[in-house]
Amino acid sequence: MAHCLVTGGSKGVEGEWGDLDPRGSPDLTLAKKKDQGNYECEVLGEGSEGAVQWKKCTKNPGHLNFIPAPKFSLDHLPGEYRDEELLEFVRVVSDRTVKLTVGYTSTNRPDGFIFSNFRGTSIPHTGTGFLYCYNYGDEPQLNVSDVSQDESDEDDDPVKNSETDSKDEIEEDEDDFQIIEQFDLRLDRCPCPECTNSDDPKRSWGYVYAHTAKHVVYDDSEAKRTVVTLNYNDPDCSEGVKTLYGDAVTWEDGDRDWCNMTCVTHDRDVYQSLYSKERDREEQHTDINEKFWRCKTPLAIIVSHPHGCAKQITVGQWTNRTVKFDNQESGDQMTEYTYDTPTCSGTSGAPVVLLGEKGVGRETWWYPHYHTHSGTFDGKLNISGTSDESKVELDDQ
Ligand SMILES: [Zn+2]
Ligand SMILES: [Zn+2]
Repeated sequence: MAHCLVTGGSKGVEGEWGDLDPRGSPDLTLAKKKDQGNYECEVLGEGSEGAVQWKKCTKNPGHLNFIPAPKFSLDHLPGEYRDEELLEFVRVVSDRTVKLTVGYTSTNRPDGFIFSNFRGTSIPHTGTGFLYCYNYGDEPQLNVSDVSQDESDEDDDPVKNSETDSKDEIEEDEDDFQIIEQFDLRLDRCPCPECTNSDDPKRSWGYVYAHTAKHVVYDDSEAKRTVVTLNYNDPDCSEGVKTLYGDAVTWEDGDRDWCNMTCVTHDRDVYQSLYSKERDREEQHTDINEKFWRCKTPLAIIVSHPHGCAKQITVGQWTNRTVKFDNQESGDQMTEYTYDTPTCSGTSGAPVVLLGEKGVGRETWWYPHYHTHSGTFDGKLNISGTSDESKVELDDQ
C-alpha cells in the first residue's frame, strides 16, 4: 500500500471541531495508542498517519495475509469453502464495512478503561464498523407474514409463485413509502455538523446505524465527533467514497463490548441501498450459517480498516467458543470467540463472519447480530466481543 488518500473523510468537519487540534503530537499519539491494552484501535497523529502505521506495523509485518477488499475472490477461501454464495455474502458484509474516525475521547470513560488517560482530548482514534439501516417494514405490526414460507416446491406451484410475487411487490411498495417518509420528507432538522450551523440545512436526510465495539465509540459525545467513511476500498482512489456523520450511541452493552451508533446520511442512494437490501442481508446470513453448520475447520472472516487504511479482508479459523450466558429454556446463548484471523490496530469493532456457529442471532429490525472484533491476547490469538446466538432449527433436521 503506497499511501492512503482518505484519512477519515474529515472535509467540512474541522470547523465543527472548533479550536481543538484534530491531530495529536507524535508523543501524545503514541501515548494514547499505548493506553488501550489489548484492544485494537489505531491512533492517528502528525507523523503517524495510517500509511505510516501500516509500514511500521510489527504485529503483521508486510500484511501478507491481508487481501484488499476489491480483490477478494474464491481463491482466498480454503478448498471446502470455495463457494459462490459464501463469496457473495463476504462481499455484502464488505460493502457495509466502514471506517470510523473518532475525534474526541469522552470524559465519561471510566478509570482504567481504554483511553481513560485521554479523556476530554481530541487525538483521533480509528476503528471499524458495520453499516445497516433497519427496515421499518420489519416491525411486527407491519410484517407481511401471511404468505407461505414453504419454498420446497414453489417453482412448480403457480399459486405459491403468485403469492411470492405479491409479497415482493408489497415489500417494494412498503420500502418506497418508508424511504419517502424516513428520508425524503423529513420534518425535523438534520443533526449533522454540516447542517447544525447552516442557514440552509439539508431537507432530505436519514438515519442509518453503525454496529461496532463500545470501546471504539463510547457515548454520544464521541458519536457526535465520529466521521464514518463508506466505500474506502482503494488506497489510491477516493471515487465513490461517502462520508456520513455519527450522532448518538443508541443501543449499547459495555460488558459485551458492542454498540450501535446512529449516523446521518444526506445521500439518498446510500440510504435506499442499505434500506432495500436489509431483508436480503438477513436471509443471506441465516442461509450461510446453515450451509456451513458442520464445517470441519470453522472459519472466522474479518472485514476491516487496519491502521485506518483502505478496507482489507482476512481469513482464519476460530479456535474457541466461550458461552457467557446459556438460556436453558430457549437454547439461546451469549458467546464470545477466539480466532487466528489476522487483525491489526484499527480493526476494533470490525464484523467477524463466523462459520460453524451454533446459530446465528435472531435477526431483528434494530440489531444486526454480528460478533464485533474486540482485541488480541498475545498478538497471535484474537478475540471478539459477546453476541447472541439463538438456537437454529435446520430445515433438514
Ligand atoms: Zn445534515
Ligand atoms: Zn498491521
